[in-house]
Amino acid sequence: MASTSTTETEQPPEEPTEHESALQTARRQLQHAADHLDIDPNIVERLKHPKSVHEVTVPIERDDGGVDVFTGYRAQHDSVRGPHKGGLRYHPEVTRDECVGLGMWMTWKCAVMDLPFGGAKGGISVNPKELSDREKEQLTRRFTEELRDVIGPTVDIPAPDMGTDPQTMAWLMDAYSMQEGETIPGVVTGKPPVVGGSKGRDSAPGRSVAIIAREAIDYYDMDIQQTSVAVQGYGSVGANAARLLDEWGANVVALSDVNGGIYDTNGLDTHSIPTHHEEPEAVMTHDAPETVSNEELLELDVDVLIPAAIGNVLTADNADAVDADLVVEGANGPTTTAASEIFAERDIPVIPDIIANAGGVTVSYFEWLQDINRRAWSLERVNDELETEMLAAWNDVREEFESRDVTWRDAAYIVALSRVAEAHDARGLWP
Ligand code: GLU
Repeated sequence: MASTSTTETEQPPEEPTEHESALQTARRQLQHAADHLDIDPNIVERLKHPKSVHEVTVPIERDDGGVDVFTGYRAQHDSVRGPHKGGLRYHPEVTRDECVGLGMWMTWKCAVMDLPFGGAKGGISVNPKELSDREKEQLTRRFTEELRDVIGPTVDIPAPDMGTDPQTMAWLMDAYSMQEGETIPGVVTGKPPVVGGSKGRDSAPGRSVAIIAREAIDYYDMDIQQTSVAVQGYGSVGANAARLLDEWGANVVALSDVNGGIYDTNGLDTHSIPTHHEEPEAVMTHDAPETVSNEELLELDVDVLIPAAIGNVLTADNADAVDADLVVEGANGPTTTAASEIFAERDIPVIPDIIANAGGVTVSYFEWLQDINRRAWSLERVNDELETEMLAAWNDVREEFESRDVTWRDAAYIVALSRVAEAHDARGLWP
């Protein structure tokens, strides 16, 4: 198998720049949290490096008969608390470093939720929009075969991320199971329920964003019925978050997808607007008094801003112009380090991705349990248990936030890092 295990040598720069890689940002955040804790520096040093990074080539036959070769990665960051866990991304900008940084974030995300998983992330550098369904299926099956020795229900469990979906996970599960000679649903989560996926998995990241936004709104003594919300991104995360907040009485005034956004101070009827996935033109063709660009949406005068599209949208260039009272991160890594510092100076609380969108991996954990036990849960049970887990994590983070003079991001990292470091301390360094 074309796979390598490597050690990372790149060091973060002294000062944050706007062009940091996800890995540099992740390392800086780790160091920042470690500075608040009395942790063995040797453990922190270990955590700055992934356990292993697998790089594979993925050749596929195109529909025109030619062969194209893509590069795929699986970065496994840490497994001290359990099997590696994290998504697979199909996107042209997937790089080794991005997978390592995002894999590190998964370690913290699982730890802040107290799930028995470590972190990983992988992907293929490819534009999935340029592939037919048949090509995508072949790409996924070949990628699975290349990774077969390093994934598995007790080793590393992939899930959907940008550019992949339940169908991708079904192909992965099938390719893995056919080679292993038995059906192994627990090798991957985010599958369609008919092949062992969990009810409520699709909507879980957006649901957790809404739950955490609701708790933060309450924490800051705002009334959800009087709260205006702008959501960037109307895929699964943004749409589910917007619809739930709308149901709970918030006034969702702005929404956007990759084509641009719409704005209505009287509130948008989120349930009547199909997601970008269901109908790619739906947001911009919806009847609304004003349109806004994606950049303008981030600067609207609203109570709550939810960036739920892509990473690095809140930067040093626009953080001063953000007019929201509270930011809840729906996407992974939407705020650069420099922007985080500006928000801290401006006293704008930013509730970080590793707790806000952690509903996805939490219901992935429920899915894994259902697969192992061969017993499906009802949607009601999934949503009830998700609510319980989100509130427990929120309370843990809130306690750190209140007892130290730190940002919400630091508080979440402190909870996560303490758990991971304690596990390393208990297990020790061997061999
Ligand atoms: N890709 C999702 C995330 O970033 C889900 C990961 C998972 O369920 O394993 O949280």
